[in-house]
Amino acid sequence: MKPPPFRYHDPRTLAETVTLLGTLENAKLLAGGQSLMPMLNMRFVLPDHLIDLNKVAGLAHVEAEGRTVRIGAMTRQRDLERSALLAAKLPIIPAALAHVGHLQTRNRGTIGGSLSHLDPSAELVTVCAALDATVTVAGPGGTRAIPFSEFPLGYMTPATGLDEIVTEIVFEAWPAGHGFGFAEYARRHGDFAIVSAAALLAFRDDGRIGRAALVLGGLEPVPTRLSAIEAALAGETPSEELFAELCRPCAELEAMGDALVPASYRRHLAPVMARRALARAAGIAAAAIH
Ligand SMILES: Cc1cc2nc3c(=O)[nH]c(=O)nc-3n(C[C@H](O)[C@H](O)[C@H](O)COP(=O)(O)OP(=O)(O)OC[C@H]3O[C@@H](n4cnc5c(N)ncnc54)[C@H](O)[C@@H]3O)c2cc1C
Repeated sequence: MKPPPFRYHDPRTLAETVTLLGTLENAKLLAGGQSLMPMLNMRFVLPDHLIDLNKVAGLAHVEAEGRTVRIGAMTRQRDLERSALLAAKLPIIPAALAHVGHLQTRNRGTIGGSLSHLDPSAELVTVCAALDATVTVAGPGGTRAIPFSEFPLGYMTPATGLDEIVTEIVFEAWPAGHGFGFAEYARRHGDFAIVSAAALLAFRDDGRIGRAALVLGGLEPVPTRLSAIEAALAGETPSEELFAELCRPCAELEAMGDALVPASYRRHLAPVMARRALARAAGIAAAAIH
């Protein structure tokens, strides 16, 4: 199928982009096109205007100052996957990207596009929730920062206004030597996850867990933060038995069902993915200590 007719705009600056967004009726931003183009071709979206971000200066970067890491919205997923800076500061991002689509889709797909598309199973969405990222958006009124806990409003609905653009995602890196684990179940490698889990663990000097983050993706329309498990992990000695026991109640969580995957199957996967992600994180944190 071919997309419906639209007018194409090719701005070079963020200011120009924001002006276009603020003045054009029914406009869509084009980033890597890996989700938008299929949506256009299938006529799920019918914009009158397409604003291409690919030549807008200043939107693709990975920078760090101390523990703060800034990623430009137009940074390609493949560049994040291969970034030495991310491997050192936010290693869960490259680990999760190994599960995202294919080399070809990662070459074009961007972090800002993935977060804005907000598929419930998108790996970057799950990971940004676990990392407590902050999303910076720009619009006619200036810029504002949205904590990731407030970014997904509902099914594929980000908290960005129609006249706003995601410009940057900001992270506070966990301490050096922290553990990270990403686990997912998908029918085939490269498919969207049915259920995924992202875990981060920081150990205390005595080998017990000091801090934990655990998020499930794909279970509900928005990421499922497992705050009760995070709290229960603090102060404990990590073990497979502990992770299995704490994650067991995930089988009772609310879950979506659809024509292909019933809610009961997602609930079945939830504790399995959660404990696998925790076990991977614990293994990495333990190896960093020894
Ligand atoms: C075969 C295939 C397999 C895939 N598998 C996976 C997978 O396993 N996991 C996964 O997560 N994804 C997967 N994807 C999707 C892919 O990763 C996309 O890159 C991603 O969903 C969208 O990023 P994009 O840069 O291509 O955005 P686009 O497709 O260009 O845009 C997506 C949406 O975001 C909006 N948007 C884009 N940038 C901005 C911005 N800066 N500010 C505000 N709004 C913006 C657009 O208007 C549009 O609504 C797959 C895609 C394909 C084709």
